[in-house]
Amino acid sequence: VQILAGGTCSVEMTNKLLVSLKVLLIQLNPQIGQTDQTIKRTWTILDKVAKSSAYVKPDIILFPEFALTGYNFHSKNDILPYVTGQGEGPSFQLAKSVSEKFQCYTIMGYPEQAGEQKLYNSVLVIDPEGKQVFNYRKTFLYDTEENWDCGENPEGFQTFPMHFPKCAKLPDEKSFTRDVTLLSSIGICMDLSPYKFKAPFNHFEFSSFCVDNNVELILCSMAWLNSTSITDKQVLQNDSLLNAAKNKIAFVLKEQGLPLSGSHGVYQLKIGDSQHTSRVPSEDCTSDYKEMDEPDMTNVNYWMLRFFPFLYYKERTKWFRDSSLLESILAKSKMPLDHQYYKDEKHKEDVTDLMDSEGKIKDALLERTFLGASLRQPWKFKGKNAVLAVANRCGIEDGATIFAGSSGIYKFNGKETDYLKKDEDTPLNSLNESVDLLGNLGKGLEGAILREVQFEVSR
Ligand code: GLN
Repeated sequence: VQILAGGTCSVEMTNKLLVSLKVLLIQLNPQIGQTDQTIKRTWTILDKVAKSSAYVKPDIILFPEFALTGYNFHSKNDILPYVTGQGEGPSFQLAKSVSEKFQCYTIMGYPEQAGEQKLYNSVLVIDPEGKQVFNYRKTFLYDTEENWDCGENPEGFQTFPMHFPKCAKLPDEKSFTRDVTLLSSIGICMDLSPYKFKAPFNHFEFSSFCVDNNVELILCSMAWLNSTSITDKQVLQNDSLLNAAKNKIAFVLKEQGLPLSGSHGVYQLKIGDSQHTSRVPSEDCTSDYKEMDEPDMTNVNYWMLRFFPFLYYKERTKWFRDSSLLESILAKSKMPLDHQYYKDEKHKEDVTDLMDSEGKIKDALLERTFLGASLRQPWKFKGKNAVLAVANRCGIEDGATIFAGSSGIYKFNGKETDYLKKDEDTPLNSLNESVDLLGNLGKGLEGAILREVQFEVSR
């Protein structure tokens, strides 16, 4: 409390701007070795989107992780035919054409080769003129990436600006005639999980990073698994167990009338409708691979939980009065300490030097959060808005890995929801009303969803 009272207090004049953003997500089932077919289906989807009677020009088109190449590469030799440098290759070419055609940003996951040696799981950002303006590399890696020697992003999580002409207005203005630059961040699948599945769950590394840095637009390219996938190492290393597990999946697929690779070319388009996703409590969810046009709500609920710092949570006010908050913030470094980020000592100051020589807390620390709480406020995100877009692939690889699809668009509204009864705990899933679920695709079909999101930013 002392620290807070001592801090400088400046009154800043800020304007609220209302932003209108049209976000298009493309959901694909890319199979390894079939890049050309995947590109063809992508154009078919985009064509259908553009011809839809309710079509409006998107400002962003977001694709999944490894959108064109497929995901489950088993060795470096496996992936080498598919890696490309920046500014070349099928993913770059397609993204550039898409940007030029739709005059918008295109964001797409691809396997990157940097120089002779280094491989990364990356996402490229092409601006409306067709120029690559950002390249993000996955920071937290999943087991599969270790098979092909993928490097961690040495920069860790990052922010970058995205420019949207004529997408904003003052609250009392009629139409969106003002330009706005949004602070954006990209997360690739495992970036949303605890580092190596070993870091404390409640560190919420990626979403804390976004809240700490006041990120307004969060773009996630994903190849997230449905939980009926075979991931148990003991099963994967034992032929007879593996076969039994694969047979089970093959049976489920047959029941659904689907081939072993899942659905291709049956497109689900959510363009004109503004149908929101129903909130489903976790206990009513199933992970069963059925109802391909319905979202996998187990995953949607889990993703919401991983964005805990953005969600309203009643208990935070109590923690704020408890002085251990500072220790928790200090104990949680910006990146996990064994991450590549710290290897070259470049970012050493992130974990040390948070106090100045007089023992006063530096401003940077006051911006940091633990479970969404900062030393300044019980809930740092209160009263703010942020947009989350998640493009996840669908389909099945190796007859064992089922991807969860369910691509969706969300708005964190920063509201302290008052629907709770006195002693009720705040739900930390899709039931939490501080997040608006603007719409999701189903778990198992290729397709597209387009939503206009209106939200506020301070300028
Ligand atoms: N946590 C993610 C999952 O379980 C990781 C997958 C990925 O990084 N592609 O699906």
